[in-house]
Amino acid sequence: MSTARRLSEDIAASAPSFSFEFFPPKNDAGERALWTAIRELEPLHPTFVSVTYGAGGSTRDRTVRITERIATETTLRPMGHLTCVGQSRDDLRTVLGQYAAAGVRNILALRGDPVGGPGAPWTPHPGGLDHGDELVALVAGLGTFCVGAAAYPKGHRESSSLEADADVVVAKARAGAEFVVTDFFFLAEDYFALVERVRARGCEIPVVPGIMPITNLKQISRMAELSGHDVPPSVVSRLEPWADDPDGLRAEGTLVATELCDALLEGGAPGLHFYTLNRSTATRRIYESLAPLPVM
Ligand SMILES: Cc1cc2nc3c(=O)[nH]c(=O)nc-3n(C[C@H](O)[C@H](O)[C@H](O)COP(=O)(O)OP(=O)(O)OC[C@H]3O[C@@H](n4cnc5c(N)ncnc54)[C@H](O)[C@@H]3O)c2cc1C
Repeated sequence: MSTARRLSEDIAASAPSFSFEFFPPKNDAGERALWTAIRELEPLHPTFVSVTYGAGGSTRDRTVRITERIATETTLRPMGHLTCVGQSRDDLRTVLGQYAAAGVRNILALRGDPVGGPGAPWTPHPGGLDHGDELVALVAGLGTFCVGAAAYPKGHRESSSLEADADVVVAKARAGAEFVVTDFFFLAEDYFALVERVRARGCEIPVVPGIMPITNLKQISRMAELSGHDVPPSVVSRLEPWADDPDGLRAEGTLVATELCDALLEGGAPGLHFYTLNRSTATRRIYESLAPLPVM
């Protein structure tokens, strides 16, 4: 495992960086599928891989264990996710201690969704933190970790405006975040508009776009709904003709995602972060279909 450079430096130097996100599975079969995906994606030499922290902190031990295993048994550099949900400051420091003991040096610091799910009212833990930027500050203050945070090209569902959301990205950068990774989205213009709002505030933090491979229209629509936004009609109209043809839909979905990735990289995005859903095929197809990058 490369520990020479900070993750943020590698993201900046990779031009572009590639990274893959996994979630901690619930059972042995899921765990086998996860490790197959990890092993199949390892040869692509991603800049980092990350493991999500289940809603309400429900997967805390599994998340830390899998992140640790990635750190010790693979050539990959892991980033552990951490949320504030249902945890006091001391609880958060304990998890960070576990990550540090496991050799994990990169943390994605998140508030997390309310216990009632996205859209339910947010209530912080009485001894905990209220916003993502506070967790960024707590983690960065330890001096052990390179810290990333979340951003939302279409706006966070609780946010009053896109402008307020851009202020939040800047607050995270000021609190010590060295990069942000975005929620998934479908139109490159939404990503570039977010970057522009952040840059207009004098903040140069790298904004890594999050990419969701499309393999199933119903699933992707449900996930988009949870984040408070619909799949844009221009994307739906490309996928709908394949609604009864899973192979055709996967092929068109790959094309849609590849076109998005090409546009993002061409427009200067520092990398691509793939939400793999613990499957490697769709991500590999998109990766292999990307237009060759110009040699600098
Ligand atoms: C790349 C990525 C990875 C993710 N991984 C996970 C995961 O592993 N586990 C998980 O449970 N969830 C995960 N999420 C989802 C995330 O936890 C939710 O979207 C959550 O609702 C917001 O988290 P946040 O850190 O962006 O919160 P915040 O930055 O706190 O934002 C939440 C809301 O509060 C507002 N806000 C923020 N700061 C302030 C402030 N100082 N004052 C007033 N308002 C403020 C924001 O505008 C926003 O509307 C991920 C999201 C992304 C983009």
